Amino acid sequence: MRLSQSFIKTLRAAPKDETARNGAYLVRAGYVHKELAGVYDYLPLGLRVLEKIKAIIREELNKIGSQEVLLSSLQNPELWEKTGRFSDAQVDIWFKTEVTGGGVLGLAPTHEEPITNLMRTYISSYKDLPLSVYQIQTKFRNEKRAKSGILRGREFIMKDMYSFHATEADLDAYYEKVEAAYARIYERLGLTETYECFASGGIFSKYSHEYQTFLPVGEDTVYYNSDRSVVLNEEVLQDDVLSDLGVKRDDLSTTTAAEVGNIFKLKFKYSEPLGLQFGDENNQLRTVYMGCYGIGVSRVMGVIAEKYADDKGLNWPEAVAPYKYYLVGIGEKGTHYAEELYAAHEDAILYDDRNVRPGEKFADAELMGIPYRVIVSDKTLADDSVEVVSRATGESKMVKLTDFTID
Ligand code: ATP
Ligand code: MG
Repeated sequence: MRLSQSFIKTLRAAPKDETARNGAYLVRAGYVHKELAGVYDYLPLGLRVLEKIKAIIREELNKIGSQEVLLSSLQNPELWEKTGRFSDAQVDIWFKTEVTGGGVLGLAPTHEEPITNLMRTYISSYKDLPLSVYQIQTKFRNEKRAKSGILRGREFIMKDMYSFHATEADLDAYYEKVEAAYARIYERLGLTETYECFASGGIFSKYSHEYQTFLPVGEDTVYYNSDRSVVLNEEVLQDDVLSDLGVKRDDLSTTTAAEVGNIFKLKFKYSEPLGLQFGDENNQLRTVYMGCYGIGVSRVMGVIAEKYADDKGLNWPEAVAPYKYYLVGIGEKGTHYAEELYAAHEDAILYDDRNVRPGEKFADAELMGIPYRVIVSDKTLADDSVEVVSRATGESKMVKLTDFTID
């Protein structure tokens, strides 16, 4: 992308209405635009980060045999009434909308009910199982608190996956595959210090698991032992659970964390009330076992922003950076060389060809958090070199043109 032709503009100061660092930097650096509290627009750079995060998630979920779908946002109340989840007394974060000509529709805060109902059309026999589907989709929740930048939105992007099984053993086996896939996803995203955390499983299973990234601005409090092999949230901090896990309350430390995903063995929680059944080998009708598995895609972007930012701005890990290189040409020969470099590698380079001082360009490169700043000037060319500065370490080195490759 040529910055001279981009509509985004960086801001010198943090916007007054952004208290969270992720929101402040993402707005300042031109990644997002705030529409309303908890409602953000993604601009070209922000969208590229989101797409990189999604691509990593897709790759890992496709590997465990899940198929991508995209369900509707508009929801039929009748379906949700079957599980009791349309009433505001049960679920208090619905956005509901009146339909011309009468009636009400909801804007989906999650998709257990519609996916279970949809599968009634496609699952009838044990031969149709197991099955796993996922989507990456916008959810709507009328959250009371929406003040953590993109960490908590009223409109946000979630990956939600659902699996369907004939037996509990098969659900258990798939759950383990998802755990392994999630570990790979968070590692690839650069979310170190993300732990699988015990949470209450509700009435159908003893535990569910949250994925919690230790983070000073996280909204959750988690408890952990010294080697972090046991991490649990407040709701499971009970004597019987602690003895189950072989830890003592006094040995646990506490910290703040952001929930970046969670996984549940739903078993019959939705398949029973919604009547999702299959015929087994003996033609007996049985209820389908289900699991569900979420990742907060836009929250993940905010958590990565928070985790890596410093006092100069954002600082993306290479795997999710919108561009790997931020290119600046200085002087006549330097600019000529930069133009050629850009023409050959447009997709990897954010090219700052604006008519502004180099110092301003360098500050924006840091604010935007692009991993490598590449400077080509008449001076570096006199040495047959370019200068490469790492955003993460600040280290600068001269690299010979013959050794310099853009990947
Ligand atoms: P939280 O406790 O943070 O409200 P939740 O328990 O409601 O999360 P789920 O309904 O299971 O979460 O959603 C799956 C994932 O979506 C969560 O793990 C989280 O990463 C993300 N998420 C949930 N609510 C929001 C929100 N309002 N804005 C952004 N991401 C969210
Ligand atoms: Mg919630």
